[in-house]
Amino acid sequence: MLLEGSKDSKRVSRRKFIVGTAAGVVVGVVGGSAVTSLLAPSTTTTTPVPSTTSQKFDYTADVVVVGGGAAGLPAALEALAQGASVLLVEANMDVGGHAILSGGNVPLGGGTPQQLKYGITNDSPDLLFKDLVDWSVVQTNGMPSYRYNDRDIIRAFADNNVAVYNFLVANGVQFNDIAPNTSGGTDVGQSAPRECHTIYTQGATTDNYSPSGANGTTFIRPLEATARSKGVQFLLNYHMDSLVTDSTGRIIGISASYTPRLLPGSSTPLKSYAPQGNINTTQATVKVQANKGIILATGGHSSNVDFRRIFDPRLTAEYSVAGEPYSFQDASGELAAMKLGAVLWGTMAGTVETGASITKAGQIGTWYGYVHLKWSPNAVVFPFAHASGLTVANYQDVIMVNMLGKRFYDETQPHFGSGNYNNVANYAQDSWLNAQNIKWAPQNYLNAAMQYNGPNGSTLNGGGPIWAIFDSAAVTREKWNVAPPDVDPAFFYQASDLATLAQQISTNKFQKTPMSATTLQDTVTRYNSFVDSGVDSDFAKPKPLYKINTPLYYAAFAAPVIHDTRNGLRINAQCQVQDITGKPIPSLYSAGETAGGFNEHGLARCAVQGYIAGKNAAAKSS
Ligand SMILES: Cc1cc2nc3c(=O)[nH]c(=O)nc-3n(C[C@H](O)[C@H](O)[C@H](O)COP(=O)(O)OP(=O)(O)OC[C@H]3O[C@@H](n4cnc5c(N)ncnc54)[C@H](O)[C@@H]3O)c2cc1C
Repeated sequence: MLLEGSKDSKRVSRRKFIVGTAAGVVVGVVGGSAVTSLLAPSTTTTTPVPSTTSQKFDYTADVVVVGGGAAGLPAALEALAQGASVLLVEANMDVGGHAILSGGNVPLGGGTPQQLKYGITNDSPDLLFKDLVDWSVVQTNGMPSYRYNDRDIIRAFADNNVAVYNFLVANGVQFNDIAPNTSGGTDVGQSAPRECHTIYTQGATTDNYSPSGANGTTFIRPLEATARSKGVQFLLNYHMDSLVTDSTGRIIGISASYTPRLLPGSSTPLKSYAPQGNINTTQATVKVQANKGIILATGGHSSNVDFRRIFDPRLTAEYSVAGEPYSFQDASGELAAMKLGAVLWGTMAGTVETGASITKAGQIGTWYGYVHLKWSPNAVVFPFAHASGLTVANYQDVIMVNMLGKRFYDETQPHFGSGNYNNVANYAQDSWLNAQNIKWAPQNYLNAAMQYNGPNGSTLNGGGPIWAIFDSAAVTREKWNVAPPDVDPAFFYQASDLATLAQQISTNKFQKTPMSATTLQDTVTRYNSFVDSGVDSDFAKPKPLYKINTPLYYAAFAAPVIHDTRNGLRINAQCQVQDITGKPIPSLYSAGETAGGFNEHGLARCAVQGYIAGKNAAAKSS
């Protein structure tokens, strides 16, 4: 697993730079310019400095980690453990990324101490590896999600699961002391229970401050606290824009711009209860030098509309992303690396027809409708979220129409099925019978929602908004408060008649075409007739129950929501970023959702890759 010595080391000066003895900041000189060097506690080794640069850097460290989420924090901690000085650059005003909003369900297996403690003795790295590359596993929607996994990357993952379980525990993460199970996660393999669940047993302090109240806080905060106490330096509110090269083209650092989260229309920074970065600066751009390596842990590209459409042209701007507006997956890691020769990998995975990669809106009447993330008015990012949204308890209470005002599917249908243990009955690894035994249940609600069928056979990329249409009787049944902060006036309309409602819907910024009042009226009239007959002869919704005929009438935004990124930069087993020929790009690493070749959701994959990247970046010979 250790990185081999790279050729570029010959270009590195052996000139002594800094000798430090304590955590802190020491000023040195590189190429004639003043720099601030960041040292891990008790670091007594010398740090070589590239001789080829005459560029000015504001800060320098052995390893620069970009992004402080599920991959970045483990990367920083492991690099530090290997004796490197580490600087972590984070675009947000706080660490955590998607991970701090997550459920804290971590599928680590291969024979972890927790599995062994609870008698799960059949798991091993080999079993885990074979599960995750099993060609025969087919999801309920037909997607063979493990078939396209990169074998080298999965092998490295499987071989490091137990080490990373122990590493997380050693760095403060607490797992609920129960038998690993299959609950709360997806795509975790078939042969053994592997899902562990983080908990927090310490008292409530600002240390466990959570931006959303999600359990993922108990994954992130302990890692953050350990990283801070051991000497990782944090530079918050800085967005890496590009990688910096020397005159030979070798990557030697990053450039980042100051991007404080300001309250909308104001110059007041968003309140953050979390401890702030220990490098406190507000200069517009900074350049950070990396003596050994840069780890891109920026969390993927789902929030970048142009980038995500490389993989599915339908994913136009009307689809929000789970985790927004706390954290954005803007493809900055991928783009910075691709400018310097990196390529994408594993692109058969992505926002495809499997599991929660794209979901039916869980909250309606808001732009941020991810099913497992309902923003509270108390949330620090609520000024950006604008509304909590309405949760639909019973889809008999609404009809869903597309931007033309037409129904498109049975509203009670779910999003794509997940690949968990029970989907494949009688699972036997590598057996062609697995696909045959799958309970085939194609779910096409989202495909129908993303299809735009315009007048005269015209069509566009992306389906446009989806609108939940209902009346005041439904509001009473659902016990909804149809006013802010529960709904966002930019994504929620009400009127005393359907024609006026259609006019209001047409003002929404994502309507690619106006909604015809006649179409909406006809749709509701037809649906009401299905309630009379008890049969939905268009989409077979089970026994439609309620007519929509009691003013006021309402329209609530309910477009699908994208979840995570499942393809990204080409990396090898050491998490080195590679070019099109598979040659590692010196000093550049990637981990987590920014990296490609691994079609598994979530925290385990990201933490393991962060650990591998941190180890190798720190080990780079100079
Ligand atoms: C609501 C929700 C629930 C989830 N629940 C689970 C679960 O229970 N189990 C599970 O396994 N997975 C879960 N996931 C998925 C999991 O959280 C993610 O897969 C994981 O956090 C991704 O890790 P990452 O390090 O790649 O990205 P992130 O954790 O998102 O971290 C990326 C960080 O990089 C920063 N960044 C981005 N660009 C830049 C830049 N240019 N410069 C500086 N910083 C930058 C971001 O601000 C962010 O802090 C959930 C996700 C969500 C949104």
